[in-house]
Amino acid sequence: MMPGNTEKLRQLDKEHLWHPFTQMQAWRESGDDPVIIASGEGVTLTDTEGNRYLDGNSSIWTNIHGHNHPTINAAIQNQLSKIAHCSALGFSNEPSILLAEKLVNLFPENTLTKVFFSDDGSTAIECACKMSIQHRQLTNHKNRDGFIAFEGAYHGDTMGAASLGGIGVFQDRFSSLGHEVHRIASLDDLDALPPEVIASVNALIIEPLIQGAAGMQTWPAGMLKSLRKWCDQHGVFLILDEVMTGFGRTGKMFACEHEEVIPDFLCLAKGLTGGYLPLAATLTTDHIYDAFLGEYEELKTFFYGHSYCANPLGCAAALGSLQVFEEDNVIASLSSKISVFSSRLRETVDRCPHFGELRQVGLIAGIDLVDAGSEAALDWKAETGARICRAARKHGLLTRPVRDTLTLMPPLATSEHEISQAIDALEKATHDVLG
Ligand SMILES: *Cc1c(COP(=O)(O)O)cnc(C)c1O
Repeated sequence: MMPGNTEKLRQLDKEHLWHPFTQMQAWRESGDDPVIIASGEGVTLTDTEGNRYLDGNSSIWTNIHGHNHPTINAAIQNQLSKIAHCSALGFSNEPSILLAEKLVNLFPENTLTKVFFSDDGSTAIECACKMSIQHRQLTNHKNRDGFIAFEGAYHGDTMGAASLGGIGVFQDRFSSLGHEVHRIASLDDLDALPPEVIASVNALIIEPLIQGAAGMQTWPAGMLKSLRKWCDQHGVFLILDEVMTGFGRTGKMFACEHEEVIPDFLCLAKGLTGGYLPLAATLTTDHIYDAFLGEYEELKTFFYGHSYCANPLGCAAALGSLQVFEEDNVIASLSSKISVFSSRLRETVDRCPHFGELRQVGLIAGIDLVDAGSEAALDWKAETGARICRAARKHGLLTRPVRDTLTLMPPLATSEHEISQAIDALEKATHDVLG
């Protein structure tokens, strides 16, 4: 890429692209935006002007083993030399078959035995919702299609998934559309639900251990186990949204392993392909699946699917990612990285007067910005979090805040030294902006 081309690309970007979750007016007015990423190697991203950055949020929570990983590249290239895509409607393909088996084998025997592939986190959630609603209909539990979901939840942007979300700015405009949702904040709220509400509920959905888009809000220990128990007592399905927490982020392969909970539906996406290609999976049990079996004319079929379901390239990338997990013993390598992450974060938060609460699970962290004198929350309109993340670029770090919560979620492949560098960069950037 010629350096002069960056300006041309920026102009064209501002003319034609509409970016996700982005106020395009500010974007278009900004002189040094956008950073245009040209390449990635390991956990380092390089832009079109040759600047290098640590990928501090794993390219929005997707990347696992680093960029340009030889094993994943080879898996994709090998599949590409055969076929890029073929339909899963009426046909099958080898990578999706092998991947389904591998995913099932990541869970205890005879628990989550069936895998439905789709494209991204939102569709993995849609699929779980529709399966659970249809299961109720097929088993004569009519009028049982409500959901219980949490304040601050984020389950994706498609209409059904969004209606389960509990973040006002994403959700309020569309709140009259979508599922019937009973919103709770805690286990106590759950116990306070009237019996007639519980009887109308189909499933409860939660991001296990930690809510991401809410600003890395953690749940109390034991929460998941209690939810499983409550759901069993009341005949409510449990949907775990592991779109963010899956594939090692929390220190174990899946967040639900921390409390030995098996859900009725488990949704995976972001890290499934190691962060290379869009692919999602909804895992479920024989109990759910069996209700859909019958003669064609009974119309029990799950009439749902997307054009790119079980895409062979995506499945090959996911197989490559799981191969890296095995060959490099990735999960076992995490505990020392996580303890460096914890202690360096703790130190920094204790030292810097602009940092308030720190929340961390595995290699996921959120730090609230506060007023240095009063410790009060900042005025969100000042976009301080965003300004700090922009300043962090100069210190070689790319990440994105959730309003005034700074977040770090480095790829699992990040070294202890690079973890330290990322935390230092955030601290320096905070000093640059707030003094
Ligand atoms: C990102 C995310 C989703 C939505 O996934 P997309 O791939 O963006 O559709 C759903 N749930 C959680 C917890 C997420 O972090």
